[in-house]
Amino acid sequence: MTRSPVATVLVLCLCASFALAQTPPPGQQPDQPQDRRPESTPDQPQPSKQDARPEPQPSARDAASQPGPAPAASFDQVIDRTIEREHFFIAQMKQLHPLVETYLQNLKPDKELDVNVPASDVYFLGRLDMSSGAPGDLNFNSPGSGKFHRRIMEKIAGKLFNMYLPLGFAQMAILDQNFQRKFYDFTFVRREFLGEVRCIVMDVAPKKDAGPGHFIGRVWIEDQDYNIVRFNGTYTTHSRNNYYFHFDSWRQNMRPGVWLPSLIYSEESDLKTSLGQKLDYKSQTRLWGYNLNYTRNSEFTEITIDAPQEVQDQSQKSQDASPVEAQRAWEHQAEINVLDRLQRVGLLAPEGEIDKVLQTVVNNMMVTNNIDIPEVHCRVLMTTPLESFTLGHTIVISRGMLDVLPDESSLAMILTHELAHIVLRHHLNTKLAFNDRMFFPDERTFERMDFARDKSEEEAADKKALEMLNNSPYKDKLGTAGLFLKAVQARAPQLKNLIRAHLGDSLLNGDATRMSSLMTSSPQFDPRKLDQIAALPLGGRVKVDPWTDQLELVKTKPVAILAATEKMPFEVTPFFPFLTRFAAAPEKTAPAPDPPAEKAASSPSGR
Ligand SMILES: [Zn+2]
Repeated sequence: MTRSPVATVLVLCLCASFALAQTPPPGQQPDQPQDRRPESTPDQPQPSKQDARPEPQPSARDAASQPGPAPAASFDQVIDRTIEREHFFIAQMKQLHPLVETYLQNLKPDKELDVNVPASDVYFLGRLDMSSGAPGDLNFNSPGSGKFHRRIMEKIAGKLFNMYLPLGFAQMAILDQNFQRKFYDFTFVRREFLGEVRCIVMDVAPKKDAGPGHFIGRVWIEDQDYNIVRFNGTYTTHSRNNYYFHFDSWRQNMRPGVWLPSLIYSEESDLKTSLGQKLDYKSQTRLWGYNLNYTRNSEFTEITIDAPQEVQDQSQKSQDASPVEAQRAWEHQAEINVLDRLQRVGLLAPEGEIDKVLQTVVNNMMVTNNIDIPEVHCRVLMTTPLESFTLGHTIVISRGMLDVLPDESSLAMILTHELAHIVLRHHLNTKLAFNDRMFFPDERTFERMDFARDKSEEEAADKKALEMLNNSPYKDKLGTAGLFLKAVQARAPQLKNLIRAHLGDSLLNGDATRMSSLMTSSPQFDPRKLDQIAALPLGGRVKVDPWTDQLELVKTKPVAILAATEKMPFEVTPFFPFLTRFAAAPEKTAPAPDPPAEKAASSPSGR
């Protein structure tokens, strides 16, 4: 299919709006898409017809797995091949709808530590939708009630909330939606390995007459298929009212020949806005859930109405379930419904290796406390905010929580609190056993699902959990768990969005800290003390496969902390993923690589 000239112009306009500044003009609401149109669009060069490139067909992206043509013979050919691959990339992105999560910390100087520390934070979660050519997203944070949500967000994040647009960070996944050789100058820098992938490094700068909204910075290109795997820089602007953030954008090899955006780090240290504010922040953007088969057209996710296996088993018996059995089966059905729904949305990781590690800790607790409850499982929520909750007999803990917990005993503390809810038979609301209650648009998940407990259940669970911990192998190591809670308490006023739970229990409930009695017996929290690690930075423990949503524990050697400023509890840091090629990836991280076309048609959940 050849793009008509009209369509080409349209795409170009959309490209410019994609690369729009972070701030809407004063008085405009950032969540209104029409506000993202830049003034500069008409000045952009109009591409002539011969620039129209063949639109890659949907199925063509898998052709990337075929052995490519001979290696590029010159730098000139490298540029041509790279641009060609980038057009394939844009075509792929139009069909994919990954989740996009941005977590940002505004910074302020800390005189005592002589370093910048978080002053406030911002959280966005949405689904990227480029199907219309322009980027859009469905924002999980503002379900339906835009204005009300805004008020809340402004209260939480202060007026700086207005400075950031979710799409501003999502756009950093795209170098240039209409990457054309005639707009840019390319300079070879060197060859370099990123992880095990050999790359050609080049500097890319827009030509003088290219107009605004183009990428300027450095690009890393893998040297087999010439896909861009990393780019680091910003977008050009000619307007004082518009500005762009600096970013470092990474892609991962998720299918043969297919590299897709996964991690973006952004920071500014003294950017002055047109309103006179000074921006000083750092942020992490993560993309995942590429293979969820999300379709924009089906607003309601398809739900399997199959009864869970256990219920079927019972029906095969010669008699009806007893009232107690029936009640349990009913509760189990609610649990299965919710787990299934959360996984389909892309919020819950599929069952995997980390679940087993968590399970071991839970088993330790159950064995030493003579608890005999069948079918207690652990699962991981894909998101950053620190939260945990139970769904029937399933304990759910967030990826962000796993990242920041300093050791096994503090992990045991979190899991045991949830186990206590199960032991005390704190029920999941069985209204969720009715399948129709799972019929809602994904972006309303936070609104429709709420597993937080009331105060009395929280207190009861704390008490029971303490009892169990004191009767466990962790009983002499609870000092760090208490210290972790002290660190949470100390940073909570600045990190409201990190501490705020979206689905389950927060570590802080009003003024009350979970398991607060553990704090009394723990050492004094001292951010300056080098050997006191109360909480870890975000992103250090769990590695996400953005295609399958499978999680893996990161096996990095502990690094000796040289200064208190390197402790960075709960903080955002840059990304340096070890890039690997898909074919070279070990079997376990990429189970059953079916032919991609078939895979796309099958269920993502593996259930
Ligand atoms: Zn709880």
